[in-house]
Amino acid sequence: MGKIQQLPEDVAVKIAAGEVVERPASVVKELIENAIDADAHHISVIIVDGGKTKIEIKDDGGGMDRADAEKAFLRHGTSKIQSIDDLWRIGTLGFRGEALATIGASASVRLVTTERNASEGTEVLVEQGVMKTIRSHAPLVGTTITVEYLFSGLPARQKFLKSDATEWKAILDVIIRHMIAHPEVAFYVTHNDRTVYDMPPNQSMSDRTAIIWEVNAASLLAVDSEIPHYALHGLVLAPSAVHSRQFAGKGKQFLAVNGHPVSDKVVAKSVRDAYGSLLPPGFYPSFALNLVVHPGIVDVNIHPRKDEVRFVNSQEVFRFVMQSVSQALSKSNLSFTPEVARSPIVNSGLRQSSSPSPFLSSPAQMSTFRSRQSSFVAIPTPPASFASEWRETGAETIGVLVYDSTYLIATYDGSLLIVDQHAAHERILYHGIEEQQNATQSPCQSLLLPLSLDLSPEMQAHLDAHMESFVMLGFGFDEDGALTNVPVVIGQKDPLTFFRTLLVSIDDDRPDLDHNDFKHRIMATMACKAAVKAGDYLSPDEQQQLIRDLMGLPDRYTCPHGRPSYITVTTHDLEKLFKRSGF
Ligand code: ADP
Ligand code: MG
Repeated sequence: MGKIQQLPEDVAVKIAAGEVVERPASVVKELIENAIDADAHHISVIIVDGGKTKIEIKDDGGGMDRADAEKAFLRHGTSKIQSIDDLWRIGTLGFRGEALATIGASASVRLVTTERNASEGTEVLVEQGVMKTIRSHAPLVGTTITVEYLFSGLPARQKFLKSDATEWKAILDVIIRHMIAHPEVAFYVTHNDRTVYDMPPNQSMSDRTAIIWEVNAASLLAVDSEIPHYALHGLVLAPSAVHSRQFAGKGKQFLAVNGHPVSDKVVAKSVRDAYGSLLPPGFYPSFALNLVVHPGIVDVNIHPRKDEVRFVNSQEVFRFVMQSVSQALSKSNLSFTPEVARSPIVNSGLRQSSSPSPFLSSPAQMSTFRSRQSSFVAIPTPPASFASEWRETGAETIGVLVYDSTYLIATYDGSLLIVDQHAAHERILYHGIEEQQNATQSPCQSLLLPLSLDLSPEMQAHLDAHMESFVMLGFGFDEDGALTNVPVVIGQKDPLTFFRTLLVSIDDDRPDLDHNDFKHRIMATMACKAAVKAGDYLSPDEQQQLIRDLMGLPDRYTCPHGRPSYITVTTHDLEKLFKRSGF
């Protein structure tokens, strides 16, 4: 009975006025949020022509009685807050009481609703802000709102609508955000009579996200942590999956704060930082996270559409998110596995033979060419159980086979490892540099004579701008700018050439890089320049040392640029490849 009241003026004023409805996607967002607030378990979303012709949202939530159905279209008609104090405690998605009023003023709207267990429903017709009809209706579960011809009476607004396809894309984005935020709710979605999604209820966040992102659920790593006032639940995409086409560019980033989809730069940055060098430069992590914070330490009312939030202590949020994601990453096995094991081999075979590459330098031909000159250094392979034991027993040798003077093949912990010697060595060196960094000053070796750098004014300026980072990494210069010290990591390499190549390869305009990112780049480049190359000869001892060192590192899975450093092939993968088991 009668749950809706008009907000007192003082509350209304405190809530910053803003345009709630600027395009079809905003209507969809408001209506889905209302359905979720009404405790719906099933929501169907019917869209026609990018929402310009029709938007219909049907839910099986609590519904409204006749009096509420009438008041729902009033400005500031809301059942969700009564005083300004409630603003801080609000657990629901909507609370301005503005959405239906605005939508009703911009379109032809039909509302059919039945309060739970009532024997009679209500139908309301609102046309461009005028209530045309309110009458009884057969009792149908929940609420259905149909919005037709949005902005048809508002040519100025209509002018700003984009193509159907663009409006649909924006709607889809809204729907996806809510589907991920509420995996417990079933969603049925159609556009122009085509079924786009049919999501069952009561899914886990990872099952739902796996369907939406089109990935194997195994590529999603669970994040679950709690400290006083904060909790973070959800998932992040494994680094091995970021290269798939659907994650190109900015990746897929989904954040809800207290169940409410928002975007937030602090959280995005802390997730990126947690990945550190596990991701290649220019790649962004994909994540679907729900941050639960005590309502007293987040301001949800800074944005008219409530798309952003402000944290009272954003440093605290940053640290918490970064630690939680780091933990999730370090707990997981992030090994790369061969793609081919995931898809039927027949396909890739067909594709290859139907389009023979006309290029001489195609990777396949290059590798055939290289392998002809490469030497096989085979060491008698120990029994399979041996490799999994050496870790515990510290046994002296691992059987290593070198392929193409680049790939080290060994068994480790029950799987077959294929290690890229360059990427692996880069990771090992990078780890070493990073450790030394944490111990304040990097160990360096002083040169017998200062070496004059002879830099162009531009290069000199570039060096001066980042002098601090270079010095921290173990480089030293005298008053004349000549090189006096170099970090130990460069080993026997010619210091002058090493430094010049380093300086040149980090010289590009990346104003977006902050001090830390930049230092990371120098470190990664140093590791790259100092590491053994593909094709370099490694003695059997060095091969073993490399594998052993690599496998002892927490970040062993990638090189500092985010390329895989090794690939594991499990018995299961082999069984699939050889079609011994179902695939
Ligand atoms: P708000 O969500 O900010 O309260 P709205 O204009 O979106 O404002 O909705 C006004 C009121 O109408 C809500 O407070 C709610 O009581 C009611 N209402 C809207 N949609 C639904 C729905 N799908 N099911 C039940 N009640 C609804
Ligand atoms: Mg609402």
